[in-house]
Amino acid sequence: MSAPLPLVQTRTIGKLTVHAIQSGGQKLDGGAMFGVVPKPLWERRIPADDRNRIQLGMRCLLIEHPSGLVLVDTGAGNKEDDKFKQIYGLDNEGADGRTCLEDGLRAVGARPEDVAIVINTHLHFDHAGGNTWRDEAGTIKPSFPNARYFVKRGEYDYATHPNERTGASYFPRNFMPVVAEGMFEFVSREREIVKGIRVIPTPGHTPFHESVLIESGGERAFFLADMLPTHAHLPLPWIMGYDVEPLVTLETKRRILRRAEDEHWLLIFEHDATVPWGYVEHDGKSYRLIND
Ligand SMILES: [Zn+2]
Repeated sequence: MSAPLPLVQTRTIGKLTVHAIQSGGQKLDGGAMFGVVPKPLWERRIPADDRNRIQLGMRCLLIEHPSGLVLVDTGAGNKEDDKFKQIYGLDNEGADGRTCLEDGLRAVGARPEDVAIVINTHLHFDHAGGNTWRDEAGTIKPSFPNARYFVKRGEYDYATHPNERTGASYFPRNFMPVVAEGMFEFVSREREIVKGIRVIPTPGHTPFHESVLIESGGERAFFLADMLPTHAHLPLPWIMGYDVEPLVTLETKRRILRRAEDEHWLLIFEHDATVPWGYVEHDGKSYRLIND
């Protein structure tokens, strides 16, 4: 196994400095990642291994905001066993028993204690697993002890009432210790969390999935999360089989990509193993990535 590199990529959005931190690697079934798209089409974009899995990343975004460090999503955490890691091709081990996310924080001079705000786009294990960590004594506790954690109320309700289809991605150990400490704030609709950082509903992957719009100095960036996990998912019908409401994803993509092109948003791809971000244009047939 090998986690995608580089660990950290840094740029500015207006007056804000942001760091895309690759919190580890993950390998998922290519067919499941591309839904109804036939393999001969998707494997031209991302090749499959001998178990039909494609290499993915788990990119988190750290924003240096005047009010404190804001972290969007937290990767898969350090609590899973070897069998689970084998199944999902998880490769995210960092120094001191923690994960590549903490390594990335250290690389930019930050500690977990310095994070002021954590935003969870949703509570699946590969996005919220790093909300908590297991210490040397085996105790599970919040990874960012001084942070306020934000998530959609509907997503929390959905995660805590799973069914046979949705339960495999939601582990209470990733969010209940945060609830127990009273550190979660529940959001019910679009909301500016701190100046210039806004959560926007992007339903489809889960009914209450949200993405994050960052605005500063006339520039805009959009952290897509699982609304559009890699740059290969830009064409409207290239939608994950994992999505619980794929036709809702389709309309979310149509709406968001139109705005992204019109308003020149930098799109940030959470699961892309190689491409962290880019702008989009519609070439008359489909959306495609253009460089900045
Ligand atoms: Zn995901």
